[in-house]
Amino acid sequence: MSDLTISLQTPDGKKIALPTGLFINNEFVKGSSEEKLTSIDPATEQPICSVEIATASDVDAAVQAARAAFNDPAWRDLTPEERSKLLHKAADLVEKNLDELFAIQSMDVGKPYASSRDGEGGHLVGTLRYFAGWADKILGQTIPVSKDKFAYTLKQPVGVCGAISPWNYPLTNSGWKLGPALATGNCIILKPSEYSPLAALYLAKLFKEAGYPPGVVQVLNGYGKDTGELLTTHLDIDKIAFTGSTATGRRIIKAASVNMKKTTIEAGGKSAFIVFDDADLEQAAKWAAFGGFGNSGQICSANSRILVQEGAEEKFLNIFSGIAKGTKVGLPFDEATQQGPQTSKMQYDKVLGYIEGAKAEGAKVVTGGGPLKGPAGKGYFIEPTIFSGVKSDMKIFQEEVFGPVLAVTTFKTEEEAVALANNSTYGLAAMIFTENLKIAHRTASRLQTGMVWINESNNTDYKIAFGGFKQSGLGRELGEGALEAYLEEKVVHVNL
Ligand code: NAD
Repeated sequence: MSDLTISLQTPDGKKIALPTGLFINNEFVKGSSEEKLTSIDPATEQPICSVEIATASDVDAAVQAARAAFNDPAWRDLTPEERSKLLHKAADLVEKNLDELFAIQSMDVGKPYASSRDGEGGHLVGTLRYFAGWADKILGQTIPVSKDKFAYTLKQPVGVCGAISPWNYPLTNSGWKLGPALATGNCIILKPSEYSPLAALYLAKLFKEAGYPPGVVQVLNGYGKDTGELLTTHLDIDKIAFTGSTATGRRIIKAASVNMKKTTIEAGGKSAFIVFDDADLEQAAKWAAFGGFGNSGQICSANSRILVQEGAEEKFLNIFSGIAKGTKVGLPFDEATQQGPQTSKMQYDKVLGYIEGAKAEGAKVVTGGGPLKGPAGKGYFIEPTIFSGVKSDMKIFQEEVFGPVLAVTTFKTEEEAVALANNSTYGLAAMIFTENLKIAHRTASRLQTGMVWINESNNTDYKIAFGGFKQSGLGRELGEGALEAYLEEKVVHVNL
């Protein structure tokens, strides 16, 4: 075992050989800086391990390796079928190693281990296989012009892509970027969040094992303002695929303009969950909990604003608060745990600040409303919290909390529900609960969001586009459309 690979002991008794280096040119290497990044277990507040971080010369080395790989026949000249086969091989290895991958991720970010391995794990493998299936189905067009003239189009990979991810779904998010980038023949450098540096390193090891040539898949850990910015401003990177906050998204668009990089931005949200009074309230409450408290509320498309028609409020709140009170908050490796800790101290403090702010602004606590402590009196746990009586000018209605804190507001008419839902600078998702088909589809078409779920919430599928309107982003991930973000279109004019 090299000195950059550590033996990670998981709470459920596994020993995992985890590489901690920068993954450049298919090797785990030391960074040029003496500084390391330490991952903290949010359930225990104890350090897990430290990893290498990338400074300017490391970023340059990775970009040079990616450029060389992009021009190397070993990658460039693979047939679409060969690219598909490689990605399927990686998916197979990911599937074989789900226990390890998801144990590492749960230690790093605090997700309940068993449910994330089964749910997110299946989604990750499915995403890679879905995009592997697209590799040999990327087609151009032929355009007839006149008797002697026509044009045809070639869809070609963009080149060297930087992929910058947040900490709430480290593995899922890596898969959303690796899948379409590799299916279309690009090279990709992953920059995980500084709050979740570990799982992508194990993933890189599996992609190497699958047979990806050096430089095609690389991982550089580091801070956003350092490593992240070095990627967004690098003149030899062609594209940035970013997921994270809206504020960082804006900075990235500006930085990436230095060489007109293509950018896709998946940013924040404040999604409205509209419950009409004819809805199946048991189902509505179940889905509100799934899409609001799931992943400790750290979901970009979380249904964080719940709009309930006046006649249904009392009954809905009774059922919903019962579910919230019954949610088992606990240690990630305890099988009964439904909600783990917030991922970091930073996020824990931020969420508690929003709870106190909502109380001060006059919102009423229905249930929860405070911190919880884990078994050893440690951990960044927060009670599933519901506020009622929330007004549209309150911070908790307008700002993304990114925690298990949901704001309930009432409405009288369909018109008012649509206006309240659209009263947001975000436009990621919305949910509608009603048994009335006309209301459901009429409302869906008027909501200013990239995604609408009718009678469910956050039931994401890799075959279906994911992304937002307004300040929730630019472009889409998942689904067939995700491929376009990794392709350039070339037109060839032919004059016979
Ligand atoms: P963040 O914006 O703080 O960080 C995201 C990533 O950007 C990290 O890797 C970080 O290191 C990097 N970064 C930070 N500053 C940078 C800079 N100046 N240049 C380059 N890179 C930089 O977001 P976060 O706190 O990690 O994640 C939470 C946010 O992500 C929430 O707003 C959430 O809604 C959003 N999110 C969106 C989606 C989506 O698909 N729309 C999915 C998941 C999370």
